[in-house]
Amino acid sequence: MADAKMAEAKKVNGTSSAVPPPAKQRQVAEKKSGEYMISCPPVHTDELFWLCALAYQCYCGDYWVLSFIAIEPLIVHLLCRMISKPGDPDRACNNIIPVDLRKDFSSPPDVVASMLGGKPVEATESARPNSQWVKFFRTSLAPDSMDLLDLKAQRLVCVLAQGGEYLPKASNTTLAMILYSVAITGVVLRNYGWFKAAKIVAITGAHINIMHILRDHSISGLTHHGAHNVGEFDKAEFIMSNVKTSLPIVVASVFIDWPVVHVMASLQTIKCLAYVNHTLTHYTRVDIKGKGPGGGVLWELVLRTQEVLAACKIITSKQYHAQHHFHNEMAYPAILMPFNEYLNAKSLTPFLTRTMDGKGLMQVEKVANVMCVAFLYQAVAY
Ligand SMILES: [Zn+2]
Ligand SMILES: [Zn+2]
Repeated sequence: MADAKMAEAKKVNGTSSAVPPPAKQRQVAEKKSGEYMISCPPVHTDELFWLCALAYQCYCGDYWVLSFIAIEPLIVHLLCRMISKPGDPDRACNNIIPVDLRKDFSSPPDVVASMLGGKPVEATESARPNSQWVKFFRTSLAPDSMDLLDLKAQRLVCVLAQGGEYLPKASNTTLAMILYSVAITGVVLRNYGWFKAAKIVAITGAHINIMHILRDHSISGLTHHGAHNVGEFDKAEFIMSNVKTSLPIVVASVFIDWPVVHVMASLQTIKCLAYVNHTLTHYTRVDIKGKGPGGGVLWELVLRTQEVLAACKIITSKQYHAQHHFHNEMAYPAILMPFNEYLNAKSLTPFLTRTMDGKGLMQVEKVANVMCVAFLYQAVAY
């Protein structure tokens, strides 16, 4: 019995509780092991809707989605194995890739240096007005170097790295962006019948999931897991950049009837929709109380709609996303819809013992993006 408990502790913490850790290790916080963080069932009940949709597509003789969800994780896995170099074989948290490749906002270099070097930053929270509502979770993705900072300093670097301009929680701008994203997705997907639209959403959704779990091995993922109750559309620069990339292509898709334009517009709008759902999974009733038009009525309607769609397993629920944030941080990557979760998570097993540089991460992302566009193009052509 005692042995079983000891084995369980070892599984969760990555160290044996029977042997006192050496002095050097005593300074670092106990974290969940990489094996624990990446563990998940081969199929989760929340994937039911999209697995049924996939089964129907195969029944109809259409295998584009099936091919994509098998090939993309395989290619990503092989690339990660080839490009990566040996890292910390025992503590997956130290294999973090020290780069932030986001186009919307990139973590300031001194903040990244603070995380990796353990020295506090000079900036204070006043550098990020409106960020008082941001909470903090001691993520097991954080490298041991961050343990040299106290919890307040860890929260600060996560806040500084996450975004440049925070909006007040449940702002009207966030609400407007949610409604805009839903509207443009409707405009673009009306070009297809429901069968093709489902194929596009399935391929794009699965791709967004694997991109998310890949980014979780870099600075942007780590800081979101630290400052965890922040969605993309709680930050001004993410709203601006997504409007800038989506609006021109959506307008073009209305006037230009080329398949490639429709495919690119679908990709951009579904990405916005994924950010909407991810943002909403980080909202509570308290956040929206009395906010926005009608004294909170419109926000309430948005939140209820999200909950109903999540209950039908069409989109990711708040509870499902919480599993990813607070338990298995290297698994359950769905932000728009739970689909292909096992293969997407397991494709990144090289990061349990290996790491790579920013250039390598960018190459993997590029190959996956090109593959997604190619499959989307073929999926709507047939
Ligand atoms: Zn994540
Ligand atoms: Zn999240």
